Amino acid sequence: MRSIQTKIILMISGLMLVMVAAFLLISTIRTNAILNDDSDRILLSAADYYVNDIDDYFRSTEQSVVSMYNYAVKRTEIHPDFLNDKGEKSRYTTEISGLAKSIAENTRGAMAVYLRYNPDDFGPTSGFWYTIRLKDNTWVTSILTDMSLYDKDDLEHVGWYYVPVKKGSPIWMDPYHNANMDVDMISYIIPYFYNGYTVGILGMDISLDLLKESVSKVSVYESGRAFLVDKKGNLIYHEDYPDGMSRDKLSEREKNYYGDILQTREDTVNICTDLHGVKQKLILKELRNGMILGVYAPLNEIRQPQHTLQQQQLLVAVIILFSAILSCLILVRTIIAPLKKMTAVAEHYAEGDFSEEMSAGRKDEVGVLSRSLQTMSHSLKEQIEKTGAASRSKSAFLAGMSHELKTPINSILSMNDLIYSETEDEFIREHCRDIRAAGTTLLSMINSILDFSRLEDGRMEINPKNYELAVMIQYLVNSVSERAKEKGIRLYTDIDGSLPSVLNGDDVRITQIIMNLLTNAVKYTKKGSITLSMTNAGITGKNVSLAVKVKDTGTGIKKEDMDRIFDSFTRVGEEDNSGNEGTWIGLSIASRLLSMMNSRLNVYSEYGEGSEFSFVIRQGMVDKTPVGDFSKRSSFSSTNTSSKN
Ligand code: ADP
Repeated sequence: MRSIQTKIILMISGLMLVMVAAFLLISTIRTNAILNDDSDRILLSAADYYVNDIDDYFRSTEQSVVSMYNYAVKRTEIHPDFLNDKGEKSRYTTEISGLAKSIAENTRGAMAVYLRYNPDDFGPTSGFWYTIRLKDNTWVTSILTDMSLYDKDDLEHVGWYYVPVKKGSPIWMDPYHNANMDVDMISYIIPYFYNGYTVGILGMDISLDLLKESVSKVSVYESGRAFLVDKKGNLIYHEDYPDGMSRDKLSEREKNYYGDILQTREDTVNICTDLHGVKQKLILKELRNGMILGVYAPLNEIRQPQHTLQQQQLLVAVIILFSAILSCLILVRTIIAPLKKMTAVAEHYAEGDFSEEMSAGRKDEVGVLSRSLQTMSHSLKEQIEKTGAASRSKSAFLAGMSHELKTPINSILSMNDLIYSETEDEFIREHCRDIRAAGTTLLSMINSILDFSRLEDGRMEINPKNYELAVMIQYLVNSVSERAKEKGIRLYTDIDGSLPSVLNGDDVRITQIIMNLLTNAVKYTKKGSITLSMTNAGITGKNVSLAVKVKDTGTGIKKEDMDRIFDSFTRVGEEDNSGNEGTWIGLSIASRLLSMMNSRLNVYSEYGEGSEFSFVIRQGMVDKTPVGDFSKRSSFSSTNTSSKN
C-alpha cells in the first residue's frame, strides 16, 4: 500500500514531468523556428550590405565612364566636324583624353581608360589608351591594339570593341586576366553613336583587387564567408583560391560545384553542402555587373545558439522540475507529517493506550481533525474508565456474593448430611440425596462464577507444583463414574502406561478442566460410552507434552454452535443443544485456563454422533517412572469404569 505522501508526490511529479516535457517541446519548436528565421535574416542583410558596398565600386566606375561620354558628346558642339576633319578630330580627341586621364586618376581601382574610334572609318589604331604604371602610379599612353590583326569575331582580342557596339548600350564585359600587368580586370564600356553613326567606344578597365578585398572582408557568424562567380559559374574569387583568376586552377569538381550552385534560387536562403561536405546556408545575390556574390555560413554555427538555448532551457526545466518536486515534498510533508503522527497516536488509542495526546498546534483542517480526535479520545477514555469501573464493581460484587453464598450452602449441606445420618426413613433420605445433589451443583456453579470473576479481573493465577498423575486420573474417574453408572453409560480410560508418574504443573486447574469435559460428556450422552485418554505427545528436555482427550457418543454439537461454545458465558439462560438451559460457563473457563497455561482446547464434534474435546499441555517431568498399566490399579477395577485395550 502506497502512502498518501508517495501518491501525491508521484502524481505531482508526473504532472510536472508532463508539463516540463510539453514546455520543452513547444519552446524547442518555437525557438527553432525563430532562430531559423533569424539566421535567414542575418544572412540576407549581410549579403545586401556587401552587395551594396561592392556595387558602389561599380557605380563609381560607371559614373566615370558616363562623365567621359557626356563630355565627348558635349564637345561635338565645339567640334561638329570632328568626324570628317582630321585636325578637328585630333583636337577633339586630345580634349577628351585630357579629361579621361584626370577622371581615371580619381576613379578607385581604375587601370585603363580609353577611346577607340570605329576602325572601319578611322583605321585600326585610332583613339587613345591610357594605362596606369603600377610602379609609380602614373598614367601613361599605351600602344593601341591594331584591330586589323584580328577578325571581328575574335572576342578574346577585339570583343571589347565589337560586343558593346553590337549591343548598342553600356555594358560590363566579362572579367579577364591582363597578362602584361598580371592583374584581373573588368571593363565598363559605352558604345559611342553620333547622329546614327558609330563613332567608337569609350571605356575604363578597373582592377578586381578592390572587389576581391571587399569580398574577402565578408564575415558572417564564426567562419561564414563569401565568394564571387561570374554569370557562367566561373569562380572569380574565393579566399581558398587567393591567386588571381583562380578558376583555371580549379579541378573539374570545383568548377562544377560553382556552376551547379548557380542553379539555386537567388535572393533566398538555401541549404546546401560545400566542397568539404559541410552543410551550410547560402544566399546568392547578383551584383550590378551581373556577377554573383554568394554568402554562406555553416549550419552548425548557425544552430549553435539554438543548441545553447536548448541546453539552457533543459537546465531551467530540470531546475523547475526539481524545485517543484522539492517544494511539493516539503508541502506534502508539512501536511502529512502531523497526519502520520496522528495515525500513530490513533493506533495507540485503538490498542487501548490513551496516554499520548494529539498535538493540535495548527489552525488548518489538520488541526481541526487533530482536536476532534483528541476530544473523541478523551470521551472514549472516560467511557472506558466508567465501563472498567462498572465491570470491576460487577466482578467485586460477583466475587463477594459468591463467597457469601458459599457459607450458607455449606451449612445447608452439613445440616442435610446430619439429617441423612440421623434418619432411618428412606423417604426422607431420598430427599436428603436430592438436596445434596442440588446443593453440590449450586456450589460448583458458584465456584465457576468465582473463577470467572477472577479470570476477568486478572486475579486468576497458575500455581505449578508436583503431582502424581495416577492420583489425578483416579480422582477424575471416581468423580464421574457414579453419575455415568446412573445413566447407564460406560466410562473407559485409555492411559499411556509410559507416561511419567510424577509431573509438575497446576494439577488443580488441569483437574478442573478435565472434570468439566468429563461432566459435560456425561451430561450430553444418553447412551454409549465416554473415553478419557492421555498419551505422550513428545518429550523436550525435562518436559513432557501431555495429550488429553475426552470422547463421548453423545448428542454432539451443531455446526453453527461450534464457534460460540468458548465465549458461552455471554449466553447464560439460552438453551443448550439438548434443549436444557445451560450455564454456558464451563468451556469458557476451561479454554481461558488452558490459554494461561500456553495450550488451547480443540473440539471435534458430529451432531448426533458425539464429541471429542482435546488439548496438549506441557508439564515438567519430576519422576520418569512410568505410570504403568492403569487397568491393573485396584481402585479402577470397580463399577462401570473399565480400561480399553
Ligand atoms: P454448560 O454448563 O451449559 O454445559 P459449558 O460451557 O460447559 O456449559 O458448555 C457449553 C455448551 O457446549 C453446552 O451448553 C453444550 O451445548 C455444549 N457442549 C459442551 N460439551 C458438550 C458435549 N460433550 N457434547 C455435546 N455438547 C456439549
